Amino acid sequence: MERVVIAREGCKGCELCIAACPRTVLVMSDDFNRSGYHYSIFKNKEDCNSCTFCGIICPDVCIEVYK
Ligand code: SF4
Ligand code: SF4
Repeated sequence: MERVVIAREGCKGCELCIAACPRTVLVMSDDFNRSGYHYSIFKNKEDCNSCTFCGIICPDVCIEVYK
């Protein structure tokens, strides 16, 4: 199981999770989801410490964090 699971199709590309991550783990996609938004990607996985900041800040509850 990944530490962070992002619901791609629920993401509206607000980038709040990108700003909230203290370890620069998340990045925005170059392509679009079905709603036409760039979406957040769990990229620099080895740097994640499961702090949950990204999951807490997402207004659309798209992010689940596992310890
Ligand atoms: S759990 Fe914390 S370190 Fe991991 S991606 Fe989210 S904000 Fe970044
Ligand atoms: S905070 Fe949520 S809606 Fe905003 S970019 Fe991140 S995953 Fe997408």
